[in-house]
Amino acid sequence: MTNMMQAWVVSEPGPVSGSPLVLVERPVPVPGPGEVLVRVRACGVCRTDLHLAEGDLAPRHESVVPGHEVVGEVVGSGEGTSRFSSGDRIGIAWLRHTCGACHWCRAGHENLCPDSRYSGWDTDGGYAEFALVPEAFAYRIPISFSDEHAAPLLCAGIIGYRSLLRAQLPPGGRLGIYGFGASAHLTAQLAIAQGAEVHVLTRGDEARELARQLGAASVGGPLEPAPVALDSAIIFAPAGELVPLALESLGPAGTLALAGIHMSDIPALDYQRHLFRERTVTSVTSNTRRDGEEFLILAERLGVRVTTTPVPFEHADQALRELSAGHVRGAAVLTLA
Ligand SMILES: [Zn+2]
Ligand SMILES: [Zn+2]
Repeated sequence: MTNMMQAWVVSEPGPVSGSPLVLVERPVPVPGPGEVLVRVRACGVCRTDLHLAEGDLAPRHESVVPGHEVVGEVVGSGEGTSRFSSGDRIGIAWLRHTCGACHWCRAGHENLCPDSRYSGWDTDGGYAEFALVPEAFAYRIPISFSDEHAAPLLCAGIIGYRSLLRAQLPPGGRLGIYGFGASAHLTAQLAIAQGAEVHVLTRGDEARELARQLGAASVGGPLEPAPVALDSAIIFAPAGELVPLALESLGPAGTLALAGIHMSDIPALDYQRHLFRERTVTSVTSNTRRDGEEFLILAERLGVRVTTTPVPFEHADQALRELSAGHVRGAAVLTLA
């Protein structure tokens, strides 16, 4: 192994029409105590990477390497590690540190830990040939998924799963999904496989076509009312103007979950139209490791099919532009030779 690697870094956050991402040479990182070194084979491109590159999400350190849907092979390990061996295929996801001692950690809500840290935001992520991960926060990858297909499971999939939990969908219930990108197309399959009736409200002919193929009961535009009263809804698009529309489509006691880490301003709500009759709106904040483990097992058992658009590693900047323009079918995934 040479001791240098190629990595994409966020240089100056700004519109992806410019060049906020720059490809640089970096030393291969050295695993510290509790960490393993991963040779990256695939890294999913998440909307959060776009928010980071464009400055919607303030960078937590200079020239950070984005990427938190990493599938790779263990090639080194630091002091005190024992969970993985060289050659194991593992995944690096968004959550990479919690304190383990605070009220939230002890109550099973480590996603709300005030000391939580994240891959590709607090520390360098997977838009690189090598990446580090604390072994306690890595995942084993189910064998039925290829590297490319497994990558989007690690954020799009896990966050979608948590969004579905937060949306409190009753068994056999009616679920509305607003926006139909990487996370939504996985979440829809989980819901449908478990007997839900899924209504997709999204822009884009390709996204709509994919929704139909995956078994959506109806597919319409995001500004149209849902065709039935929904028990639950999830907004995946970072568009605050959808919140009142989705709330209005909920039946009594319905729940709306907002899946994104960033959302544009939400218009003023009208109490009678949008909230009365015990409707609930909740955000979704990261995930616990338990969510991740549960989801990966479920994804394999239910035969979730991952739709990906592979992008050579060298074109990560272009992948963000395509995502920004809404041109990605399913999930974009950087692939490394
Ligand atoms: Zn904590
Ligand atoms: Zn993500």
